[in-house]
Amino acid sequence: MRIDLHTHSSVSDGTDSPAALVATAAAAGLDVVALTDHDTTAGWALAEQARPPGLTLMPGMEMSCRYFAAGESPISVHLLAYLFDPLHPAFAAERVRLREERLSRGERIVTALAADGYPIVWAEIVARSEGGVVGRPHVARALVEAGVVDSVDHAFATLLHHASPYYAAKADTDVLDGIRLVRAAGGVPVFAHGLATSRGRVVGDDAIAEMVAAGLLGLEVEHPDHTPDQRAYLRALATGLGLIQTGSSDYHGTNKRTPIGACTTDPAQFEALLAAGTGSAALAD
Ligand code: AMP
Ligand code: FE
Ligand code: FE
Ligand code: ZN
Repeated sequence: MRIDLHTHSSVSDGTDSPAALVATAAAAGLDVVALTDHDTTAGWALAEQARPPGLTLMPGMEMSCRYFAAGESPISVHLLAYLFDPLHPAFAAERVRLREERLSRGERIVTALAADGYPIVWAEIVARSEGGVVGRPHVARALVEAGVVDSVDHAFATLLHHASPYYAAKADTDVLDGIRLVRAAGGVPVFAHGLATSRGRVVGDDAIAEMVAAGLLGLEVEHPDHTPDQRAYLRALATGLGLIQTGSSDYHGTNKRTPIGACTTDPAQFEALLAAGTGSAALAD
């Protein structure tokens, strides 16, 4: 069994349509794939309609969150959510707020870049997203097409880096509230790439303990941005706290170089995750 529990389609910042993504998953020999677009469930129905026989499709999402540590600025964290009820009103309302926040923040970044002469236009970037959830990868692609940088990676390493003067933060959900919302909607909250220092500051064990007290059920251990030491550390932490351990590629199509299935989840951990979710069902033959 090959199980990849974290992928993005073109309804957020991946490049495969949801239909193409499930085909890519099957072609790569996966038995299970979770669709976890940023802050939206818009891809679920499209992926379901296109699900090839033999592939199990896990409905999911990656929620943009922040951890508020005393005495420092908030730390950006991502929360994976599986098997939740997409119609739970408070959770659905929070997703709408997050998407609006992404639009106003994207516009601030692009307006500041354009004011300094970088030839990119916010309205064109929004139009290119075709109603999807806009993120920095969309801005990065526009910068590549305008010839400002030579790759998406280059854009992230320079103009779009979190330490760049053009970077703007988003008012993401307090992660403790996010965890409670996912649980209220019958879902399974899993802390995504929790020690990936390449993405910026990361939280400590005290924060993870607070997240567990709020209802966190799992840690993403195997992830391309985690070093072997970080994986070993998270594995021990998850075992000690009795948490589910997942592994995933965080596939983004051609926006990143990682292939689908690059990291995978142990079948027993997948079964534990399935057993914990009550808000929606995985789709299988
Ligand atoms: P945002 O959510 O708008 O802050 O943008 C962050 C998103 O960009 C995350 O989903 C990352 O997966 C993605 N990302 C981060 N670094 C890179 C990179 N070097 N190339 C492509 N995508 C990236
Ligand atoms: Fe992303
Ligand atoms: Fe993430
Ligand atoms: Zn992701």
